[in-house]
Amino acid sequence: MSVQSLQVKNYDVVVVGAGPGGLTAAIVAGKAGLKTAIVERNAFVAGTINTGLCVHGFEDGNGRRVIGGKSWELISRCVAAGGSVGPTRLIGSHMYSTTPVDMAILQTCAVDMLEEAGVDLWLHTLMTEPVVDHDRLLAVRAWGNSGEFEFRARTFIDATGHADLAYRAGVPTRDGRVGDGAMQPMSLGLTMAPVDLDRMMAAIGAGYGKARKPHTDKEDFVWFTLVFKHWEKELEEIGLRFGKAGACWGNSIYPGIVNLNAVKVIGKDGADTVQLSQAEVQARRTAVLFTRFLRERIPGFEDAHMVRVAPFIGIRETRHIEGLYEISSDDAVQGRIPEDSIALCGYPVDIHDPKDGVAEFQQIANGRFGIPYRTLVPKNIRNLLVSGRGISASDVAFGSLRVMGQCLAFGEACGTATVLAQHEDVDVSELDGRRVREILEREGAMIM
Ligand SMILES: Cc1cc2nc3c(=O)[nH]c(=O)nc-3n(C[C@H](O)[C@H](O)[C@H](O)COP(=O)(O)OP(=O)(O)OC[C@H]3O[C@@H](n4cnc5c(N)ncnc54)[C@H](O)[C@@H]3O)c2cc1C
Repeated sequence: MSVQSLQVKNYDVVVVGAGPGGLTAAIVAGKAGLKTAIVERNAFVAGTINTGLCVHGFEDGNGRRVIGGKSWELISRCVAAGGSVGPTRLIGSHMYSTTPVDMAILQTCAVDMLEEAGVDLWLHTLMTEPVVDHDRLLAVRAWGNSGEFEFRARTFIDATGHADLAYRAGVPTRDGRVGDGAMQPMSLGLTMAPVDLDRMMAAIGAGYGKARKPHTDKEDFVWFTLVFKHWEKELEEIGLRFGKAGACWGNSIYPGIVNLNAVKVIGKDGADTVQLSQAEVQARRTAVLFTRFLRERIPGFEDAHMVRVAPFIGIRETRHIEGLYEISSDDAVQGRIPEDSIALCGYPVDIHDPKDGVAEFQQIANGRFGIPYRTLVPKNIRNLLVSGRGISASDVAFGSLRVMGQCLAFGEACGTATVLAQHEDVDVSELDGRRVREILEREGAMIM
């Protein structure tokens, strides 16, 4: 196909970014009959989950499920397709449970749901710039192999993670930590196989979760903390520091195959192209050295190879929008649930220190706090919502709500709010979040 001049596409709603924050937004909007597009620069959906992670946050700090609706349907479909073991209770961990998944099966389930909802999925399509008129977004421009597109819509949802769309449309944002702007480190996921998990856990295992893996009939480790304290100096020589506890995390959905979240890059800005490029190069070099270390030093890894490295480095933190309300540290840690909460979060505050990468955890009072609708509504633009990790939150609250279960729930709230606003012919910024909450509770999306 030849490259054409600007191609205009008209929609009711355009979602930019098909990570956890974007997927459910598009599914809910499409299912309700809105003409919906989701624009994604990658060749696949599901965003950062493709770095080899478990989905945290479906259950709160006391083990009560807080998320239902389309987010739960996605995981349930993944379980039924043999691609997840569902929420798994953890022993000796900072969190109550997590949900291990096979990312390829999860992607397929998500695409099925998008198709069933009638959503147009635009892969390999990079949003390049917004078209703004005063306080309204008219369109977003994007590039694909066949040329430049202009996606016009009444409502837009920014699920880019970095709040790229909001930022470029003129919404005020804050980088990283309140005060100095420092950001949590990035990490590159890698997969090793074949690993003898029993020997690995006997040698360096600490916290863990066990479940019956798909296509097997006995329980095995599906999530774990690994402690490398004994090898601190050796690991520092290859550029890895695991901090006071000497720990990193991993998961395994199939026997002998281990995903590791261990290779950190500290002090780089994931929203800066030059620094992001440097981080990718540094992490990929370190990953090769780390896998050699594992083979040579750690029981269970003797025969293992790096069978997969993540397609991109995972970026924990970049911009946070200034929304109509910012969730404070106290709101999160004290477990406040405002009346216009559109999601609950019970994952502990989990901050990887921007300076040394050491992870610190803090539990939430009563196990959960609420995310007000106003945190999804950016200042300055009336027909835009922000979903996923870019919402308006202090660095401490962000340390908790950034996990994927909650990002899925924010997407569901954005989709629901868009449907309500278009039904009533108002902008999403004019909605009373309590009404969005009512619908989410009625639909079983938000579980009190
Ligand atoms: C190293 C690391 C470990 C983590 N561990 C866990 C964990 O174990 N469990 C957990 O639940 N959470 C974990 N998290 C947090 C979680 O993965 C993220 O906070 C979450 O994925 C954010 O979701 P999102 O939808 O906002 O962004 P993303 O998942 O980053 O998705 C954003 C999507 O937008 C697309 N996009 C961006 N810009 C454009 C553009 N201009 N045009 C088109 N598309 C665009 C991207 O390609 C991507 O697909 C971890 C994060 C990191 C980095």
